[in-house]
This record gives sequence, structure tokens and C-alpha cells, in this order.
Amino acid sequence: MIVVLKHETSKDQQAQLVEWLEQQGVKADISEGTYQTIIGLVGDVSQIDVDMLSMLDIVQDVKRVTEPYKKSNRKFHPEDTVIDVGGAKIGGGNFAVIAGPCSVESEEQIVEVAKRVKAAGATLLRGGAFKPRTSPYSFQGKRAEGLELLEKAKEATGLPIVSEIMNENHIPLFENIDVIQVGARNMQNFELLKALGKLDKPILLKRGLANTLEELLMSAEYIMAGGNEKVILCERGIRTFESYTRNTLDLSAVIALHEMSHLPVVVDPSHATGRRNFVRPMAMAAAACGADGLMIEVHNNPAKALCDGAQSQTPDMFDDTMKAVMRVRKAALEE
Ligand code: PEP
Ligand code: MN
Repeated sequence: MIVVLKHETSKDQQAQLVEWLEQQGVKADISEGTYQTIIGLVGDVSQIDVDMLSMLDIVQDVKRVTEPYKKSNRKFHPEDTVIDVGGAKIGGGNFAVIAGPCSVESEEQIVEVAKRVKAAGATLLRGGAFKPRTSPYSFQGKRAEGLELLEKAKEATGLPIVSEIMNENHIPLFENIDVIQVGARNMQNFELLKALGKLDKPILLKRGLANTLEELLMSAEYIMAGGNEKVILCERGIRTFESYTRNTLDLSAVIALHEMSHLPVVVDPSHATGRRNFVRPMAMAAAACGADGLMIEVHNNPAKALCDGAQSQTPDMFDDTMKAVMRVRKAALEE
């Protein structure tokens, strides 16, 4: 971290600042130029309050030279992290496809969709049981019963299961769920992230509607700092001024996150676009730019879906999407 002092700073003020900084456990190296004096801080700067430092009368500017995320940072862990979910690997060249309905609606629905997406090549089954809906009057999910129905679909197909959690008090209900999803709206629910950090279970962390990539990695850091290093990042579109699509799919996030972090990155073209006919081309684009996997909503009867029908593919559409995605992956690998 670099602290730039104002020109009029006296030697006494400079010494007081250095003493205060060193009391916080960092080493301060002063470099005096003709017009400007800068202090270079080395050591563990994570405890330094940058906002407070910037507000001091004698400080002109404070610049970070290292990123605040450590455990998720590729600098300290150059190899890709590979996460194994009951045999379905993700990251480091392993591609995972998570598919299934937005919400679990009945045993017949989830078992049928599970069989169809497995036959098409999906490696994990998704299904929401606790649904974060904008309106309190919309279907809220089948809650604990929905998780039990997902388990039945796992028994029927062998596919590992993924479902969203909204409240840390529900953690015991997720014991048999293979991957716990943190939805976009809860990306910065820090108490929930801390509680998930104590588990030994992969967490699928979706990017918030208006969050930067650094904020996403800081949220991953909350989980990893607690000891759970199995975090899968998910780009699911962000809010922009464009309203034709539900969100704007930020595909460059895949490339950026791979530069910044060693964690696997999956793309959700369903929530990103909100339109089922956009899902196939966007899934192909995600595969082309190196995503480690996809999350796609599939419903056996999208017109009757209780949630997100407009963006849900039919099983036939999903089958076709999978074939197209695999062609792109093959071409990308041969490149
Ligand atoms: C979901 O995956 O069903 C979901 C609610 O996604 P997001 O949190 O990305 O909106
Ligand atoms: Mn959905």
C-alpha cells in the first residue's frame, strides 16, 4: 500500500503517522522527493482502514498495490482449483453442466427433468426449494419438501444436486444437498457466507446484480477464510440500462475472474438473459471464452412453470444446447 503525503506535511506529523501505522503491524518506508513524500507500507496491510487513512489532513492519496482478496487470489495459488462433487469435476479443464428447473414443483416434475437433463449430458441437477422472489405474493418454493424431492431425483438418476440457501438457520436441511447455492441477492449476506465457511461442502456463489468482480471475490473470501475453500463462482448477468434482456451477461467476467482467481467460473445464461431462445448462443459463447461450466434452467413444461418459465428451456432445447456447447468446447480445445 502506498500513502502519498500532502506537500505541506511537517516532519513531526510524518513521524506521528509512521508511528501510528507501525503500531498496526506494518513496516513503513519513507521516500522523500523534492515535491512529494510517499510512504510504502509492507506486511499485512489487511487491518489498515484505507478510508480512515485517506481522510487524514496530511494524506493526499492512498493506493493499494496488492488485492484485498488473498485465498481466492491466483497470485498465491497459480494452479486452477478443481472441485469434485460426487464424481462431477469442475475447474482445471473439467466442464460441469448444472441443469434443472428454477424451482422444484413436484416429484414427477423434478424426476422427469432430472432424467432428461442427464440423458443430454448434464453433470449436476439444480432445483430451487427456497426461492428469493421479488414479490411476497409469488410462489416461494416448496422449502424443506422441495429439498426432499431433489434427493429423490438424485436417487433416480445419480446426479449430484444443487439448491439455493437463503438463511443460515436452514443449513441442517441442506445436509444431503451436494452443492449449496448462494443466490445473487445474498452474495453480500456476510453472516450467511461466514456460516457456509464452516462447512465442508462446495458453495456455488452467484455474482450480485450490481457487484464488481472484486466484491464477488471478497465474498468468496468470507467463505474461504472460514476454512471452506470449495467455492465455485457464477456469472449470472448484471443490471445495466438495457432492458431488452433481463440482465446483461458479462462474459468478460469469465476471463477476468480466471486472471484474478484460481476458482472455477460457471456461467448462467438463463438468468442473464431471461429468454430461452438466447440461452443456446450465450451458452456457446460462455464455452468459447473458457467457462468451467454452465447453469441452465430446464422445465418439462415451461409454459406452466411456477417460476422463470420464459427463460426455461424444454428438455429438447436443452439437448440441442448441449450438443452445440460440446461442439464449441471441442473446437476450442483443438485451437
Ligand atoms: C436461481 O438460480 O434460481 C436464482 C434465483 O438465481 P439468481 O440468484 O442468479 O437470480
Ligand atoms: Mn430462476
